[in-house]
Amino acid sequence: MGENTVNRVYNFSAGPCTLPLEVLEETQTELVDYHGLGMSLLEMSHRGPIFDSIYEETRSLALSLWDAPDDFDVLFLQGGASAQFPMVPMNLLHEDTRGAYINTGHWVKIALNDAQYSGDIYQAWSGEYEAFTRTPESSEIKLKDRTRYVHLCSNETIGGLRFPVFPDLEVPIVADMSSEMLARAIPWEKFDIVFGGAQKNLGPAGVTLVYIRKSILGSLNKAIPRTFSYAIEQANQSMANTPPVFSIWMVNKVLHWLERNGGVREMENRAYIRSKLLYDCIDNSDGFYRCPIQNAYRSQMNVIYSLPTPELEKDFLEQATQYKLVHLRGHRIVGGIRASIYNAMPIEGVETLVSFMQDFRRENG
Ligand code: PMP
Repeated sequence: MGENTVNRVYNFSAGPCTLPLEVLEETQTELVDYHGLGMSLLEMSHRGPIFDSIYEETRSLALSLWDAPDDFDVLFLQGGASAQFPMVPMNLLHEDTRGAYINTGHWVKIALNDAQYSGDIYQAWSGEYEAFTRTPESSEIKLKDRTRYVHLCSNETIGGLRFPVFPDLEVPIVADMSSEMLARAIPWEKFDIVFGGAQKNLGPAGVTLVYIRKSILGSLNKAIPRTFSYAIEQANQSMANTPPVFSIWMVNKVLHWLERNGGVREMENRAYIRSKLLYDCIDNSDGFYRCPIQNAYRSQMNVIYSLPTPELEKDFLEQATQYKLVHLRGHRIVGGIRASIYNAMPIEGVETLVSFMQDFRRENG
Protein backbone atom coordinates (compact mmCIF):
# COMPACT_ATOMS: atom_id res chain seq x y z
CA MET A 1 0.00 0.00 0.00
CA GLY A 2 1.33 3.42 -0.94
CA GLU A 3 1.57 6.47 1.28
CA ASN A 4 -1.45 8.03 -0.38
CA THR A 5 -3.77 5.40 1.16
CA VAL A 6 -3.78 7.49 4.36
CA ASN A 7 -6.06 10.06 2.82
CA ARG A 8 -8.48 7.69 1.15
CA VAL A 9 -12.13 8.35 1.95
CA TYR A 10 -15.24 6.24 1.40
CA ASN A 11 -16.50 7.75 -1.83
CA PHE A 12 -20.20 7.17 -2.52
CA SER A 13 -20.23 9.12 -5.78
CA ALA A 14 -22.59 7.92 -8.52
CA GLY A 15 -19.81 7.93 -11.11
CA PRO A 16 -17.02 8.48 -11.73
CA CYS A 17 -16.63 6.77 -8.42
CA THR A 18 -14.38 4.73 -6.20
CA LEU A 19 -11.96 2.39 -7.96
CA PRO A 20 -9.99 -0.49 -6.45
CA LEU A 21 -6.93 0.97 -4.75
CA GLU A 22 -4.64 -1.71 -6.12
CA VAL A 23 -5.72 -0.79 -9.66
CA LEU A 24 -4.89 2.88 -9.08
CA GLU A 25 -1.52 1.97 -7.61
CA GLU A 26 -0.68 -0.42 -10.43
CA THR A 27 -1.59 2.23 -13.00
CA GLN A 28 0.59 4.75 -11.20
CA THR A 29 3.55 2.37 -11.22
CA GLU A 30 3.22 1.60 -14.94
CA LEU A 31 2.20 5.03 -16.15
CA VAL A 32 5.52 6.65 -17.05
CA ASP A 33 7.53 3.70 -18.31
CA TYR A 34 5.35 0.87 -19.55
CA HIS A 35 7.07 -2.45 -18.80
CA GLY A 36 10.56 -0.99 -19.41
CA LEU A 37 9.76 0.22 -22.92
CA GLY A 38 10.81 3.78 -22.10
CA MET A 39 7.43 5.30 -22.82
CA SER A 40 3.95 5.39 -21.39
CA LEU A 41 1.18 3.29 -22.88
CA LEU A 42 -0.56 6.64 -23.37
CA GLU A 43 2.18 7.64 -25.80
CA MET A 44 1.95 4.55 -27.99
CA SER A 45 0.01 4.08 -31.17
CA HIS A 46 -3.26 2.23 -30.78
CA ARG A 47 -2.29 0.33 -33.94
CA GLY A 48 0.79 -1.25 -32.41
CA PRO A 49 1.15 -4.77 -30.98
CA ILE A 50 1.18 -3.65 -27.32
CA PHE A 51 -2.18 -1.92 -27.36
CA ASP A 52 -3.50 -4.61 -29.66
CA SER A 53 -2.86 -7.29 -27.07
CA ILE A 54 -4.31 -5.14 -24.27
CA TYR A 55 -7.43 -4.56 -26.35
CA GLU A 56 -7.83 -8.25 -27.17
CA GLU A 57 -7.38 -9.30 -23.56
CA THR A 58 -9.82 -6.66 -22.32
CA ARG A 59 -12.39 -7.72 -24.88
CA SER A 60 -12.04 -11.36 -24.00
CA LEU A 61 -12.17 -10.72 -20.23
CA ALA A 62 -15.21 -8.45 -20.60
CA LEU A 63 -17.04 -11.24 -22.44
CA SER A 64 -15.95 -14.23 -20.38
CA LEU A 65 -16.27 -12.65 -16.94
CA TRP A 66 -19.88 -11.74 -17.65
CA ASP A 67 -20.60 -15.18 -19.19
CA ALA A 68 -21.58 -13.64 -22.53
CA PRO A 69 -22.39 -16.41 -25.05
CA ASP A 70 -20.24 -16.95 -28.18
CA ASP A 71 -22.75 -15.03 -30.24
CA PHE A 72 -21.83 -11.77 -28.46
CA ASP A 73 -19.01 -9.33 -29.06
CA VAL A 74 -18.20 -6.26 -27.01
CA LEU A 75 -17.30 -2.87 -28.47
CA PHE A 76 -15.42 -0.10 -26.65
CA LEU A 77 -16.93 3.16 -27.83
CA GLN A 78 -16.97 6.83 -26.89
CA GLY A 79 -19.66 9.39 -26.21
CA GLY A 80 -20.82 7.73 -22.99
CA ALA A 81 -23.96 5.69 -22.57
CA SER A 82 -25.70 8.87 -23.76
CA ALA A 83 -24.36 8.34 -27.28
CA GLN A 84 -26.07 4.95 -27.32
CA PHE A 85 -29.49 6.57 -26.96
CA PRO A 86 -29.48 7.79 -30.59
CA MET A 87 -27.15 5.04 -31.86
CA VAL A 88 -29.52 2.20 -30.95
CA PRO A 89 -32.44 3.38 -33.13
CA MET A 90 -30.02 4.62 -35.81
CA ASN A 91 -28.60 1.12 -36.20
CA LEU A 92 -31.52 -1.13 -35.35
CA LEU A 93 -34.49 0.60 -36.96
CA HIS A 94 -35.52 0.55 -40.60
CA GLU A 95 -38.42 2.45 -42.15
CA ASP A 96 -40.93 -0.24 -41.26
CA THR A 97 -39.86 -1.01 -37.68
CA ARG A 98 -40.04 0.75 -34.33
CA GLY A 99 -38.52 0.78 -30.87
CA ALA A 100 -40.42 0.43 -27.58
CA TYR A 101 -39.33 2.09 -24.33
CA ILE A 102 -40.10 1.09 -20.76
CA ASN A 103 -40.13 4.34 -18.84
CA THR A 104 -38.77 3.82 -15.35
CA GLY A 105 -37.47 7.35 -14.82
CA HIS A 106 -34.80 9.86 -15.67
CA TRP A 107 -32.49 7.82 -17.88
CA VAL A 108 -35.25 6.35 -20.01
CA LYS A 109 -36.79 9.79 -20.47
CA ILE A 110 -33.46 11.00 -21.82
CA ALA A 111 -33.19 7.94 -24.06
CA LEU A 112 -36.73 8.50 -25.37
CA ASN A 113 -35.98 12.10 -26.14
CA ASP A 114 -32.73 11.35 -27.95
CA ALA A 115 -34.08 8.34 -29.84
CA GLN A 116 -36.99 10.25 -31.39
CA TYR A 117 -34.64 11.89 -33.90
CA SER A 118 -33.44 8.56 -35.25
CA GLY A 119 -36.58 6.52 -35.74
CA ASP A 120 -40.13 5.63 -34.84
CA ILE A 121 -40.28 4.99 -31.10
CA TYR A 122 -42.95 4.79 -28.42
CA GLN A 123 -43.48 4.26 -24.72
CA ALA A 124 -44.67 0.72 -23.92
CA TRP A 125 -45.07 1.32 -20.19
CA SER A 126 -44.54 4.22 -17.84
CA GLY A 127 -44.09 4.35 -14.09
CA GLU A 128 -44.59 8.12 -14.05
CA TYR A 129 -48.00 8.00 -12.35
CA GLU A 130 -46.60 5.91 -9.53
CA ALA A 131 -43.69 8.33 -9.08
CA PHE A 132 -41.29 5.77 -10.56
CA THR A 133 -41.29 3.48 -7.54
CA ARG A 134 -41.34 0.14 -9.37
CA THR A 135 -40.62 -1.61 -12.65
CA PRO A 136 -43.41 -3.37 -14.63
CA GLU A 137 -44.45 -7.00 -14.84
CA SER A 138 -44.05 -8.48 -18.33
CA SER A 139 -47.84 -8.48 -18.84
CA GLU A 140 -48.03 -4.70 -18.31
CA ILE A 141 -45.69 -3.92 -21.20
CA LYS A 142 -47.81 -3.14 -24.26
CA LEU A 143 -45.93 -3.78 -27.48
CA LYS A 144 -47.18 -2.65 -30.89
CA ASP A 145 -46.65 -4.65 -34.05
CA ARG A 146 -43.36 -4.18 -35.96
CA THR A 147 -41.45 -3.53 -32.75
CA ARG A 148 -37.77 -4.32 -33.34
CA TYR A 149 -36.48 -3.87 -29.78
CA VAL A 150 -37.51 -2.92 -26.26
CA HIS A 151 -35.26 -0.44 -24.48
CA LEU A 152 -35.08 -0.62 -20.70
CA CYS A 153 -32.79 0.72 -18.01
CA SER A 154 -31.89 -2.15 -15.69
CA ASN A 155 -31.10 0.20 -12.81
CA GLU A 156 -32.14 3.85 -12.61
CA THR A 157 -29.08 5.46 -11.07
CA ILE A 158 -30.94 8.60 -9.97
CA GLY A 159 -34.29 7.06 -9.03
CA GLY A 160 -32.72 4.15 -7.15
CA LEU A 161 -34.84 1.34 -8.61
CA ARG A 162 -34.01 -1.73 -10.65
CA PHE A 163 -35.59 -4.60 -12.51
CA PRO A 164 -35.40 -7.50 -10.03
CA VAL A 165 -35.92 -9.82 -13.03
CA PHE A 166 -35.84 -8.97 -16.71
CA PRO A 167 -39.25 -9.17 -18.44
CA ASP A 168 -40.27 -11.98 -20.77
CA LEU A 169 -41.02 -10.34 -24.10
CA GLU A 170 -41.50 -11.42 -27.70
CA VAL A 171 -38.87 -9.00 -28.97
CA PRO A 172 -35.21 -8.58 -27.95
CA ILE A 173 -34.25 -6.22 -25.15
CA VAL A 174 -31.72 -3.41 -25.47
CA ALA A 175 -30.55 -2.69 -21.94
CA ASP A 176 -28.93 0.41 -20.55
CA MET A 177 -26.99 -1.21 -17.72
CA SER A 178 -24.77 1.80 -16.99
CA SER A 179 -24.92 1.31 -13.24
CA GLU A 180 -24.91 -2.50 -13.21
CA MET A 181 -22.16 -3.45 -15.67
CA LEU A 182 -20.67 -6.78 -14.53
CA ALA A 183 -22.45 -6.34 -11.22
CA ARG A 184 -25.20 -8.93 -11.74
CA ALA A 185 -25.62 -12.04 -13.84
CA ILE A 186 -28.01 -11.57 -16.76
CA PRO A 187 -30.08 -13.84 -19.05
CA TRP A 188 -28.25 -13.12 -22.30
CA GLU A 189 -30.86 -14.90 -24.42
CA LYS A 190 -33.23 -11.98 -23.81
CA PHE A 191 -30.86 -9.30 -25.10
CA ASP A 192 -29.59 -8.00 -28.44
CA ILE A 193 -27.59 -5.14 -26.91
CA VAL A 194 -26.36 -4.35 -23.40
CA PHE A 195 -24.45 -1.11 -22.86
CA GLY A 196 -23.03 1.12 -20.18
CA GLY A 197 -20.21 3.53 -19.42
CA ALA A 198 -17.21 2.20 -17.53
CA GLN A 199 -17.20 4.93 -14.90
CA LYS A 200 -19.27 3.16 -12.26
CA ASN A 201 -18.29 -0.49 -12.03
CA LEU A 202 -15.46 -0.87 -14.52
CA GLY A 203 -12.99 1.98 -14.57
CA PRO A 204 -12.61 5.64 -15.43
CA ALA A 205 -14.93 7.67 -17.63
CA GLY A 206 -14.25 7.79 -21.36
CA VAL A 207 -15.27 4.38 -22.63
CA THR A 208 -18.66 2.74 -23.11
CA LEU A 209 -18.93 -1.02 -23.38
CA VAL A 210 -21.52 -2.15 -25.90
CA TYR A 211 -22.26 -5.88 -25.89
CA ILE A 212 -23.91 -6.78 -29.15
CA ARG A 213 -25.34 -9.98 -30.62
CA LYS A 214 -23.17 -10.73 -33.64
CA SER A 215 -25.97 -12.32 -35.65
CA ILE A 216 -27.81 -8.98 -35.89
CA LEU A 217 -24.85 -7.10 -37.38
CA GLY A 218 -25.69 -8.03 -40.98
CA SER A 219 -29.24 -6.67 -40.73
CA LEU A 220 -28.38 -3.29 -39.22
CA ASN A 221 -29.06 -0.01 -40.99
CA LYS A 222 -26.13 0.80 -43.28
CA ALA A 223 -27.13 4.36 -44.20
CA ILE A 224 -25.47 5.96 -41.18
CA PRO A 225 -22.10 7.66 -40.51
CA ARG A 226 -19.29 5.17 -39.89
CA THR A 227 -18.44 6.32 -36.32
CA PHE A 228 -22.02 5.53 -35.31
CA SER A 229 -22.17 2.12 -36.98
CA TYR A 230 -21.98 -0.96 -34.76
CA ALA A 231 -21.16 -3.12 -37.78
CA ILE A 232 -18.19 -0.94 -38.78
CA GLU A 233 -16.92 -0.69 -35.20
CA GLN A 234 -17.20 -4.45 -34.76
CA ALA A 235 -15.35 -5.13 -38.00
CA ASN A 236 -12.58 -2.74 -36.87
CA GLN A 237 -12.11 -3.88 -33.26
CA SER A 238 -13.67 -0.60 -32.02
CA MET A 239 -11.00 1.30 -33.91
CA ALA A 240 -12.94 2.95 -36.71
CA ASN A 241 -11.25 5.97 -35.16
CA THR A 242 -8.74 6.37 -32.30
CA PRO A 243 -10.05 4.51 -29.25
CA PRO A 244 -9.84 5.81 -25.65
CA VAL A 245 -6.66 3.90 -24.85
CA PHE A 246 -6.26 5.05 -21.26
CA SER A 247 -9.80 4.07 -20.29
CA ILE A 248 -9.53 0.69 -22.00
CA TRP A 249 -6.21 0.01 -20.29
CA MET A 250 -7.73 0.75 -16.89
CA VAL A 251 -10.83 -1.31 -17.61
CA ASN A 252 -8.40 -4.16 -18.30
CA LYS A 253 -6.94 -3.73 -14.81
CA VAL A 254 -10.35 -3.52 -13.16
CA LEU A 255 -11.44 -6.70 -14.95
CA HIS A 256 -8.38 -8.52 -13.63
CA TRP A 257 -9.25 -7.22 -10.16
CA LEU A 258 -12.82 -8.46 -10.64
CA GLU A 259 -11.54 -11.89 -11.65
CA ARG A 260 -9.26 -12.09 -8.58
CA ASN A 261 -12.23 -11.13 -6.42
CA GLY A 262 -14.55 -13.93 -7.47
CA GLY A 263 -16.12 -12.57 -10.68
CA VAL A 264 -19.66 -11.38 -11.29
CA ARG A 265 -21.27 -13.90 -8.90
CA GLU A 266 -19.22 -12.53 -6.04
CA MET A 267 -19.95 -8.92 -7.13
CA GLU A 268 -23.65 -9.80 -7.05
CA ASN A 269 -23.25 -11.32 -3.61
CA ARG A 270 -21.42 -8.26 -2.28
CA ALA A 271 -24.01 -5.92 -3.80
CA TYR A 272 -26.75 -7.80 -1.98
CA ILE A 273 -24.87 -7.61 1.33
CA ARG A 274 -23.99 -3.91 0.99
CA SER A 275 -27.48 -2.83 -0.03
CA LYS A 276 -29.17 -4.99 2.62
CA LEU A 277 -27.08 -3.36 5.34
CA LEU A 278 -28.31 0.05 4.23
CA TYR A 279 -31.94 -0.85 3.62
CA ASP A 280 -32.13 -2.62 7.00
CA CYS A 281 -30.77 0.49 8.65
CA ILE A 282 -33.36 2.64 6.82
CA ASP A 283 -36.26 0.30 7.54
CA ASN A 284 -35.35 -0.02 11.24
CA SER A 285 -35.15 3.71 11.82
CA ASP A 286 -38.81 4.29 12.81
CA GLY A 287 -39.29 6.46 9.75
CA PHE A 288 -36.31 8.74 10.40
CA TYR A 289 -34.75 7.56 7.14
CA ARG A 290 -37.17 6.87 4.28
CA CYS A 291 -36.62 5.13 0.96
CA PRO A 292 -39.48 5.79 -1.49
CA ILE A 293 -38.92 2.69 -3.64
CA GLN A 294 -41.09 -0.41 -3.19
CA ASN A 295 -39.00 -3.11 -1.52
CA ALA A 296 -38.77 -5.62 -4.36
CA TYR A 297 -37.50 -2.97 -6.80
CA ARG A 298 -34.88 -1.26 -4.68
CA SER A 299 -31.53 -0.75 -6.35
CA GLN A 300 -28.51 -2.63 -5.07
CA MET A 301 -26.18 -0.01 -6.56
CA ASN A 302 -27.78 3.33 -5.66
CA VAL A 303 -29.55 3.48 -2.32
CA ILE A 304 -31.67 6.62 -2.09
CA TYR A 305 -33.33 7.95 1.06
CA SER A 306 -34.45 11.12 2.78
CA LEU A 307 -34.38 12.53 6.31
CA PRO A 308 -37.24 14.35 8.06
CA THR A 309 -36.17 17.85 6.97
CA PRO A 310 -33.80 19.48 4.44
CA GLU A 311 -31.93 21.04 7.38
CA LEU A 312 -31.23 17.60 8.84
CA GLU A 313 -30.05 16.40 5.42
CA LYS A 314 -27.63 19.32 5.28
CA ASP A 315 -26.27 18.47 8.76
CA PHE A 316 -26.11 14.80 7.80
CA LEU A 317 -23.97 15.51 4.73
CA GLU A 318 -21.69 17.83 6.67
CA GLN A 319 -21.14 15.46 9.58
CA ALA A 320 -20.65 12.46 7.26
CA THR A 321 -17.39 13.94 6.04
CA GLN A 322 -15.99 13.62 9.59
CA TYR A 323 -16.38 9.84 9.15
CA LYS A 324 -14.64 10.11 5.75
CA LEU A 325 -17.97 9.45 4.02
CA VAL A 326 -18.23 11.66 0.94
CA HIS A 327 -20.46 12.34 -2.08
CA LEU A 328 -23.68 11.25 -0.40
CA ARG A 329 -25.79 14.08 -1.74
CA GLY A 330 -28.77 12.86 -3.81
CA HIS A 331 -29.01 13.90 -7.45
CA ARG A 332 -30.24 17.49 -7.80
CA ILE A 333 -33.46 16.29 -9.45
CA VAL A 334 -34.60 14.17 -6.50
CA GLY A 335 -32.65 15.64 -3.57
CA GLY A 336 -32.16 13.69 -0.36
CA ILE A 337 -29.30 11.26 0.10
CA ARG A 338 -27.86 8.76 -2.36
CA ALA A 339 -25.26 6.16 -1.49
CA SER A 340 -23.80 4.68 -4.66
CA ILE A 341 -22.22 1.36 -3.81
CA TYR A 342 -20.66 -0.13 -6.92
CA ASN A 343 -18.35 -3.12 -7.26
CA ALA A 344 -15.29 -1.43 -5.76
CA MET A 345 -17.02 -0.10 -2.63
CA PRO A 346 -15.68 -2.12 0.30
CA ILE A 347 -18.23 -3.54 2.76
CA GLU A 348 -16.41 -1.57 5.50
CA GLY A 349 -17.41 1.64 3.69
CA VAL A 350 -21.07 0.68 4.04
CA GLU A 351 -20.61 -0.50 7.64
CA THR A 352 -19.09 2.88 8.47
CA LEU A 353 -22.02 4.63 6.80
CA VAL A 354 -24.55 2.52 8.71
CA SER A 355 -22.84 3.21 11.99
CA PHE A 356 -22.83 6.96 11.21
CA MET A 357 -26.53 6.80 10.27
CA GLN A 358 -27.34 5.15 13.60
CA ASP A 359 -25.33 7.74 15.55
CA PHE A 360 -26.89 10.61 13.63
CA ARG A 361 -30.41 9.33 14.28
CA ARG A 362 -29.69 8.83 17.97
CA GLU A 363 -28.58 12.45 18.23
CA ASN A 364 -31.25 13.97 16.01
CA GLY A 365 -34.21 11.59 15.97
N1 PMP B 1 -27.81 5.72 -18.19
C1 PMP B 1 -27.70 5.58 -16.86
C2 PMP B 1 -28.53 4.57 -16.16
C3 PMP B 1 -26.77 6.37 -16.15
O1 PMP B 1 -26.65 6.21 -14.83
C4 PMP B 1 -25.98 7.29 -16.85
C5 PMP B 1 -24.94 8.15 -16.16
N2 PMP B 1 -25.09 8.36 -14.84
C6 PMP B 1 -26.17 7.42 -18.22
C7 PMP B 1 -27.06 6.60 -18.87
C8 PMP B 1 -25.37 8.41 -19.03
O2 PMP B 1 -24.10 7.95 -19.09
P1 PMP B 1 -22.87 8.81 -19.70
O3 PMP B 1 -22.64 9.93 -18.76
O4 PMP B 1 -21.79 7.79 -19.75
O5 PMP B 1 -23.30 9.27 -21.03
